[in-house]
Amino acid sequence: MSSSAPLAGQTALVTGASRGIGRAVALELANAGATVAVNYASSATAAEEVVAQIIATGGSAYALKADVSQEEQVEPLMAAVLERSGSLDVLVNNAGITRDGLLMRMKTDDWQAVLNLNLSGVFLCTRAITRTMLKQKRGRIINITSVVGLIGNAGQANYAAAKAGVIGFTRSTARELASRGITVNAVAPGFIATDMTKDLKADELLNAIPLGRYGQPEEVAGAVRFLAADPAAAYITGQVLQVDGGMVMA
Ligand code: NAP
Repeated sequence: MSSSAPLAGQTALVTGASRGIGRAVALELANAGATVAVNYASSATAAEEVVAQIIATGGSAYALKADVSQEEQVEPLMAAVLERSGSLDVLVNNAGITRDGLLMRMKTDDWQAVLNLNLSGVFLCTRAITRTMLKQKRGRIINITSVVGLIGNAGQANYAAAKAGVIGFTRSTARELASRGITVNAVAPGFIATDMTKDLKADELLNAIPLGRYGQPEEVAGAVRFLAADPAAAYITGQVLQVDGGMVMA
């Protein structure tokens, strides 16, 4: 754990923290001093490894299984965090999937699955913890969107619609919750080296990235840590912070 430990005494829940960006965010927030609830859907072993890694470096963490697209699993997830930790200070809505396909061939199931997790999951988790954060008069909510939600992407109409929805949701909830000391921001990664992007053809994509490489999960985690930190990000709400190697500039 870092000596400054800006999140000491706080609890963070990271959805989809068994792998990829969520895993890196969990490690980073633990390094900043937070107790981290490591949510996962099916990768129990990977989630326990994240917990073990945090504990081995002097941090505090526990794993919680829940499919955050399912309302009946989200309430117990939040209840479990509050029972274990007594509060929830930082919620990182990270869990996400892709089910790519061109529009004309896109199955309704693929549309629905992506919207259910990538957008409705953010709504369900945020709604479930809002009452607690309102009572605390304090909270940080950080939603992982994507640059695809800003500029679109052929073959990802479902994913782009969900991620654009997350941006609208972020701005609306930021306005709703600001007067109670809760900030809501989004982080928009470009192409990050994780399981989600491992099958993409790198050569074509790299031309579109001024920094000329994929990002690493740790580079997204650094942005999340910043937005969670006090007082560094206390006056920032409703924003979308791009971590994309310069891919989208506007
Ligand atoms: P990843 O490596 O595929 O990991 C996805 C994570 O989400 C896993 O921990 C997985 O848990 C979890 N998850 C999947 N379905 C879930 C559910 N129903 N409930 C709870 N957790 C669930 O993906 P990633 O690349 O790290 O992406 C993380 C987030 O960043 C996503 O929202 C993604 O859209 C966004 N993003 C990624 C990129 C990129 O280039 N990689 C770019 C922009 C935005 P299990 O292991 O248990 O399945």
